[in-house]
Amino acid sequence: MMNSGMRVGLIVLLVLFGTSLAARAQDGAGDLDPRIVKLVASISEERLGNILKKLESFETRSTLSSTTSTTRGVGAARQWILDEMRSYSPKLQVSFDAYQVAPQGRITRTVDLRNVMAILPGRSPRRIYVSGHYDTVARPGGQGASNASGGTPPADPDARTAPPADPNAPLDNLAPGVNDDGSGTALTIELARVFSQSGIDFDATLVFMCHAGEEQGLVGARLHAQKAAAEKIPIEAVLNNDIVGNDRGGSGIIDGATIRLYSEGPEDSPSRALARFVQRWGGRYVPSHKVRPMARPDRFSRGGDHSAYNQLGFTAVGFRESRENFTRQHDVRDTYEGISLPYLAQNARVNAAAAATLALAPAPPSVLNDRNQPMITRAPSGYDANLRWTASPGAAAYRIFWREAWGPDWQHELLVGNVTNLVLPNVQIDDYVFGVAAIDAHGHESFVNAYVTPPRASTPIKVVGQ
Ligand SMILES: [Zn+2]
Repeated sequence: MMNSGMRVGLIVLLVLFGTSLAARAQDGAGDLDPRIVKLVASISEERLGNILKKLESFETRSTLSSTTSTTRGVGAARQWILDEMRSYSPKLQVSFDAYQVAPQGRITRTVDLRNVMAILPGRSPRRIYVSGHYDTVARPGGQGASNASGGTPPADPDARTAPPADPNAPLDNLAPGVNDDGSGTALTIELARVFSQSGIDFDATLVFMCHAGEEQGLVGARLHAQKAAAEKIPIEAVLNNDIVGNDRGGSGIIDGATIRLYSEGPEDSPSRALARFVQRWGGRYVPSHKVRPMARPDRFSRGGDHSAYNQLGFTAVGFRESRENFTRQHDVRDTYEGISLPYLAQNARVNAAAAATLALAPAPPSVLNDRNQPMITRAPSGYDANLRWTASPGAAAYRIFWREAWGPDWQHELLVGNVTNLVLPNVQIDDYVFGVAAIDAHGHESFVNAYVTPPRASTPIKVVGQ
């Protein structure tokens, strides 16, 4: 707390003395926005705990559970989530994102599937999502037995109810799902509260999305991403949270100080750029919590809603707790006792810092020309790095990043003014990866767009006589 206060003071001093953005950028901490510091600090462990207890009280939130009860099952749960988010602020537009899903795969009968969506409109239509899935599942033996057996779960005497033999019957067995994914849901709901009550006028539109149908194959996320692609809704980033509330690994190792962040490749894809952004800005606002980017889409043979967005060309990443306890997943033992509220709150703070920074920053500049080629050359000497980019609306400056063309993390950065071209003399473009981010007049930075050549299609060579 002392540190944040000192940094806030530093910004005020520098602004008073009219110090340039370039000088402020010398010290990364000077880029902190006191309004974001305050927003991050307003996340409440107590509220997260109360949301989790309420979610647990529905006993099951299976997408296939019955919807007639007002106190038990998915229908009661989604209505409570809707009403809760509606109570936060008249600025929040809360609605069901509803679909009639035909039987397919693990959807055994026609289902009225509803994501619960809260939109906080910004000045521009570009959207930043924070998400979790509120649906649950519990199977005999759960994820622990599935892992231990190498994939074939044995029958488990701890499972209180077996799934119904009749595919048309509701799947009403106990499935508390407090960590999977009550944790991501509570985080999303709490961020809807702090963002809508912050009084900050964001540039981007923020969407707080509680998905359904994740456990049947990312169904709710896929339906929403499909709709967004068809309607050309400009989703710029998705921060998905799934299993982010437990710091005690089933192996006995405890880690409450780090969070894993999975992202779709290849190495300079927008998804990887978003992961680096979260590491950079989450780390600045929440230095006591370490983001561990993972250069892979997800854990082995596990999935999550961020992949549904990535597969349709949107930029999405997935947060996962660092040490999982598999015996408490997809299992009747996924209860409130398995949660660490301080850990969940730290993960919520990292999400909040990243989403707020991104929503206040300009959109990232494009580094591609109209033929989709990166605007990077060796001119004028033939041995220089000559970078061009397209001006981003609202940008007051740009920051150039580069690193040797081996390794994931940026090594160098340089703040430049409100220009769209930079020449680094005698820097060989073949040896480095370059990228550029847009920055507004208050230092809010976008994620980095990198100069990478799109893969070329191979054309078969014709041979005479064949
Ligand atoms: Zn999950």
